[in-house]
Amino acid sequence: MTFEELNLAPAILKAVQEQGYENPTPIQAQAIPLVLAGHDLLAGAQTGTGKTAAFTLPMLQRLSNGTAPRNKFGGKGIRALVLTPTRELAAQVEENVRNYAKHLDINSTVIFGGVGMKPQISRIEKGVDVLVATPGRLLDLAQQGFMDLSTVEMLILDEADRMLDMGFIHDVKKVLALVPKNKQSLLFSATFSDEIRELANGLLKNPQSIQV
Ligand code: AMP
Repeated sequence: MTFEELNLAPAILKAVQEQGYENPTPIQAQAIPLVLAGHDLLAGAQTGTGKTAAFTLPMLQRLSNGTAPRNKFGGKGIRALVLTPTRELAAQVEENVRNYAKHLDINSTVIFGGVGMKPQISRIEKGVDVLVATPGRLLDLAQQGFMDLSTVEMLILDEADRMLDMGFIHDVKKVLALVPKNKQSLLFSATFSDEIRELANGLLKNPQSIQV
């Protein structure tokens, strides 16, 4: 299997090549066609399997086919929201998004707690296509009226099991209530407890399941 066979756009293939990747990993080979086809996805994958590119590459391709909505502040509206359990993972995922989107007209930013809110607020108001965030700070900004999630088309929960282990379930559920019902949702988790399955059942519509 090659990346070309996955029907990725030339601009995305170029970025993948520049990363030095030769072939898709198993999670990428399975997830990319399903996400490109618009399915919701329940994916069992550990970190280190290439799961970040498995959701980011098809996400970028889907976004590159649409047009940017406006947020309530007049900037570009957020079209994809990626939630992660930790700041480190959020920063890492956003760096991946930036690398893979290098040859596309798609921008991204990352939001997490423990740093000033003002730069995050002005970045969101100016407009961003892809937001990577930890649930607590995102909810905080939303509850203060600084976040417009009404234009979200794709939602990704990364390392959902860690998110629950760290006690973010209530924050995650509150964030989910702020995004439109009609969207494509992907849930990645290394393990599947009853609590994860319940979260998945509430979020995913006719999901395809994959496991690596
Ligand atoms: P992840 O599981 O997303 O954290 O990725 C683990 C590591 O694998 C990261 O350093 C990626 O840059 C790398 N990686 C992702 N996809 C590929 C690929 N298709 N070929 C080689 N390395 C990859």
